[in-house]
Amino acid sequence: MSKTTQQQIKNKGKGNPNWKGGISSNKKEYKKNHYLKNKEKQLIESKKDYKNNPEQYKERSKLNYKNNKEKIKLNSSKWQKTEKGKEYKRKYNKIPENRKKETIREKTRRENEKKEKCIKCGNIGKTQFHHLEYEKDKFIELCLKCHKKEHNKQIISDGWIEIPELNILVEEEIHHKNKSYDDLVKEFGEEFLEENLPTYAEIQALRNLEHKGKYKLGLIDTWEFVKQEDEISKKNGRVARFVANSDYCDLGCYRNSGYSDSDLGVRFIKRKVSKEIKK
Ligand SMILES: [Zn+2]
Ligand SMILES: [Zn+2]
Repeated sequence: MSKTTQQQIKNKGKGNPNWKGGISSNKKEYKKNHYLKNKEKQLIESKKDYKNNPEQYKERSKLNYKNNKEKIKLNSSKWQKTEKGKEYKRKYNKIPENRKKETIREKTRRENEKKEKCIKCGNIGKTQFHHLEYEKDKFIELCLKCHKKEHNKQIISDGWIEIPELNILVEEEIHHKNKSYDDLVKEFGEEFLEENLPTYAEIQALRNLEHKGKYKLGLIDTWEFVKQEDEISKKNGRVARFVANSDYCDLGCYRNSGYSDSDLGVRFIKRKVSKEIKK
């Protein structure tokens, strides 16, 4: 290799803090950053891949799971032990409703023997109890596949509305009014907000659906935080808000993250991406 080429390669990585003349000093960190940076792109690629040949994709996913079962399980139990995992559990258990459900689930498992046959598709093998009604401890036995399907189509009542048109779930009402974006970060964490805030396009589409009389979301007259998608505004600490009334709607990206108002609140959405594609 000529001296100039070597020099060129060396210079290329200079902007990267982990770059030590060609040897990454922190490979794990680099990999993580690379994953985060290309997450969206990979997701789109995966989806395309799936659309082109779903059978092949499913086979590959299955094989991947089979080959890495132990690793996947280990990662999941590892995640549960991390701060984030514990935080999730804490938040989940904080809600009395969730605790009650968990107790009922445990009782069901303790007191009932599984027939190991799915009542939906008839498959014999590993099954799970699925509750139709927690209060009455009413449940059915489903295979893992049917169980997942059941949850995906379920309209989640307690405050959430399913929007099949957008493949999301959305909170019925805005909450945390009079809080700044900084307050929200303190309470929910930045990553959670990044993932669960609606984008301007999503909230706009929801407003149109409401206008057509499909859902009741109060988007005719609202003021709420949405995901900041403008990199320049983001860099400058500006947050994005959706404001609407019966006359017009608007995206505001000029206020800073310390700003709050008694009318300004937040509502979250859940995007439904199947685990197979997400992986
Ligand atoms: Zn279930
Ligand atoms: Zn089944």
